Amino acid sequence: MAKQQTTAERTGEKLPVEHFDVLIVGAGISGVAGAYHLRQQCPETRFVILETEESFGGTWWTHRSPGIRSDSDLHTFGYGFKPWVGPPIATAEEILSYMGEVIEENDLSQYIRYGHRILKADWSHEESLWTIEAVRNDTNERVHISADFLWMCQGYYRHHEGYTPEWDGMADFKGRIAHPENWPEDIDYAGKNVLVIGSGATAATVVPAMAETAAHVTMLQRTPTFFRTGRNAIDIAETLRELQIDESVVHEITRKKIMFDQAAFTDRCFAEPEAVKEELLGQIRKLLGPDYDVDKHFTPPYRPWRQRIAFVPDADLFEGIAAGKASVVTDEIDRFTEAGILLKSGETLEADIIVTATGFNMNIMGDIAFSMDGKPLDFHDTVTYRGMMFTGVPNLAWVFGYFRASWTLRSELIAAFVCRLLNHMGETGAKSITPTLRPEDQDMPLFDWMDENDFNPNYLRRALAILPRRGDKREWQHTQDYWREKNEFPAIDLDDEVFTYRWGAPKNMAAE
Ligand SMILES: Cc1cc2nc3c(=O)[nH]c(=O)nc-3n(C[C@H](O)[C@H](O)[C@H](O)COP(=O)(O)OP(=O)(O)OC[C@H]3O[C@@H](n4cnc5c(N)ncnc54)[C@H](O)[C@@H]3O)c2cc1C
Repeated sequence: MAKQQTTAERTGEKLPVEHFDVLIVGAGISGVAGAYHLRQQCPETRFVILETEESFGGTWWTHRSPGIRSDSDLHTFGYGFKPWVGPPIATAEEILSYMGEVIEENDLSQYIRYGHRILKADWSHEESLWTIEAVRNDTNERVHISADFLWMCQGYYRHHEGYTPEWDGMADFKGRIAHPENWPEDIDYAGKNVLVIGSGATAATVVPAMAETAAHVTMLQRTPTFFRTGRNAIDIAETLRELQIDESVVHEITRKKIMFDQAAFTDRCFAEPEAVKEELLGQIRKLLGPDYDVDKHFTPPYRPWRQRIAFVPDADLFEGIAAGKASVVTDEIDRFTEAGILLKSGETLEADIIVTATGFNMNIMGDIAFSMDGKPLDFHDTVTYRGMMFTGVPNLAWVFGYFRASWTLRSELIAAFVCRLLNHMGETGAKSITPTLRPEDQDMPLFDWMDENDFNPNYLRRALAILPRRGDKREWQHTQDYWREKNEFPAIDLDDEVFTYRWGAPKNMAAE
């Protein structure tokens, strides 16, 4: 499959460099989507996926905390090409099993090399190729691979290392502290008092799952979060199944219905935020009863959709609270103590175990040291082309999904675009493609990656300095708008002025 090349001089080592047309970073939901689409749309392409972990799945492989599940439905989080036949909100295990079927049915394992962590990637203008350096987990051996095109499917956060703020007195705490990103296998919480810090999607899954056997679980938050809740079922899918409609048709129609409803919901969040807010809070009031202080514990200070809204299937979080197995405290941490946490209000929360569901450390480029012709490349110096390529950076596509719709929708849109682009380059003999600001874009104002007024979770704010910049035109933004991008991406003119192509035979390293 791969043609061997002689030693790349810039690696400085006498190691053979394997060459592929395309190298995919990561075997999560996006990398597997990339492999599937390459097989379907570019069958002649020689490609490889390098993955640090020992198995596929990314997020769903590395997360082991109790209750781990999706917070969006699997009709849209699953792939368009493979029907999802289970309940819409799925456990990590169910998602892994679905991905396993995709890999098996499409014979994709032959392309995946597990246990390879990519450390460096260097673009050579002279040779028009990327050379990457990876390390094998088992032998610590360095591996060098070159590729014409680099497809970044690395996700957006550092696996195995969550974000934990530094609080005073953490070392004094006599119990255990666990982060969901790095869940200790031997932790036993049955009959214990658990304190979960945070109230995002992760906390919303950990709290009800732990509450099943813990003595009590307290969710401690500084700021409340919006939640949606409902049955873990989709009416239209149930109706179509009752009519014995083929699963592929059920999948397609259910996807369309969900996306339609999501787009309408997002529009309403902007057009009538107060009405949406009242609807969301109304659901919770109904579940928790008239005496519960919903204003204090479930009413965020921002309008809906400025941060991701997690779906709570079958209201399990709220049922746990109503049953007294879980409770919510809205306050600020003063310090950790031997027995738990002292709050700024003066109250103390005692705990045997503290779970810090406090978010991610972003690593938008897989913690890979990028360079071009040996010079370090800082993506913050670039402007994003539609949230999937970067000005001045040739032959590289990057998957950063949606926050308001399922991530996978974008992974597949980008996959289709990359395949179309690769075929176009193959047909025209182009060796490289580089997004470039057009003359009319030169004076365009540049902003941080994300508009603070639009979407502003803390983990994104913390990462703005490493994220590329955006312009004031749709071409130069990640718009978070699946509904429009699904029509725009397939219509992208590959001969548009934003793409600078370079033709000519690259230097054949084998002939050196
Ligand atoms: C608990 C949790 C629940 C979520 N639920 C949802 C949801 O319901 N809906 C939704 O849309 N989104 C959800 N997300 C966001 C989720 O991460 C994405 O939707 C999706 O799984 C990302 O897939 P990915 O393949 O792009 O990235 P990841 O799942 O992060 O996979 C990336 C892979 O790349 C590998 N990799 C990274 N860097 C390197 C390197 N240098 N060398 C080699 N390999 C590398 C990683 O090991 C990993 O396996 C959730 C996230 C979390 C943490």
